[in-house]
Amino acid sequence: THKTDMNIFAQLESEVRSYCRSFPTVFTKAKGSKMWDEDGKEYIDFFSGAGALNYGHNDPIMKENLVDYIMNDGITHSLDMGTTEKATFLKEFKETILKPRDLNYKVMFPGPTGTNTVESALKLARKVTGRTDVISFTNGFHGMTIGALSVTGNSFKRKGAGIPLTHTVTMPYDNFVSDELDTLEYLERFLEDGGSGVAIPAAIILETVQGEGGINAARYEWLKKVEEICRRWDILLIVDDVQAGIGRTGSFFSFEKAGIKPDIVCLSKSISGYGLPLALTLIKPEYDIWEPGEHNGTFRGNNHAFVTATAALTYWKDDQFEKKITKQSERLYSFLEDLVASYPELEGQVRGRGFMVGVCSAKEGLSEKIAAQAFERGLIMETAGPKDEVFKLFPALTISDEELEKGLQMIKESVEATVN
Ligand code: PMP
Repeated sequence: THKTDMNIFAQLESEVRSYCRSFPTVFTKAKGSKMWDEDGKEYIDFFSGAGALNYGHNDPIMKENLVDYIMNDGITHSLDMGTTEKATFLKEFKETILKPRDLNYKVMFPGPTGTNTVESALKLARKVTGRTDVISFTNGFHGMTIGALSVTGNSFKRKGAGIPLTHTVTMPYDNFVSDELDTLEYLERFLEDGGSGVAIPAAIILETVQGEGGINAARYEWLKKVEEICRRWDILLIVDDVQAGIGRTGSFFSFEKAGIKPDIVCLSKSISGYGLPLALTLIKPEYDIWEPGEHNGTFRGNNHAFVTATAALTYWKDDQFEKKITKQSERLYSFLEDLVASYPELEGQVRGRGFMVGVCSAKEGLSEKIAAQAFERGLIMETAGPKDEVFKLFPALTISDEELEKGLQMIKESVEATVN
């Protein structure tokens, strides 16, 4: 029995998201990699707000800066006005993130969510090229508005809106392509053969590691080939780094190590660092052709989010931070490889890059059972993939070795309890 009547969610909340079904308790408090519920039970968080809490909950420096800002009557909402916090964030983002990576982008605030940044990217690509079609990939996830949904490869999510939505073509994503049958070559043949009815698209949009689609990590060579096709045909390359960005794969941008330079980059989730809604669309300067006011919206660039987002960037000034993630992710993968080898009944496959990790079980329903078992033991974990066949490990990038180990042991116990 919980202090809060659990029925209140079923009675008063629409079933649209219903996370309370997979995490059947009422949470009250969170700090770092831990959460607590009303009954005082402690949980390790391997969910991290689906990548919105990469620095953990209530980071002490971000919290202190935010409290100071509020106590000093800092501005909350200012729409398009210039504010000190907005200027500070833009300057810091350029100095700390873009410059050292030799990237030159203009920053646009498209609206508060991941969906908003995708929507703005699709619109801009169409405006820049004067074309309409967009190529996206199987099991990609880009958001819930009609535009973002039309490039999302998830028939369940598209169902209600009706298919096809707009001018999009879905191509197989890397994980599903064998070396012999490289679908990118097919794509090129279609593009060359202008008479077949395949129009040259405005853009190709992709995640370098698919999050919602089941932690499918594209090979760097494949990403490079996609970029090459974009360059050859003057197609804009949009990398949706909403989930894979901000350190999740081990570097600030997920595409850094692949050596590609997208034309447009979509960021949201962990960009504010504190779980506050904020999104950025990064645009190569030559493509910043918006007319003033052409893409606007009320909630673009909340100053509280700028305060915490600026504080979050300090993590990236210390190169030990990336080293820590790399070291811990080595532990993550070796643990999981051992786990799938020790429990062949799991029919498991380890997937991912950096701290964006999943285990796919070929046995239907097993991953969901493992996640439910883990929850009972005090570990919060989500499932992903078209059949929820993947359990997802998304620890905060700031997690301690001890907490990581504790979470991994709970996974092992949960697998043991589920397969037996
Ligand atoms: N793109 C990707 C890759 C995502 O993972 C998500 C959210 N899961 C979105 C876009 C949409 O973001 P939001 O839910 O903030 O609209």
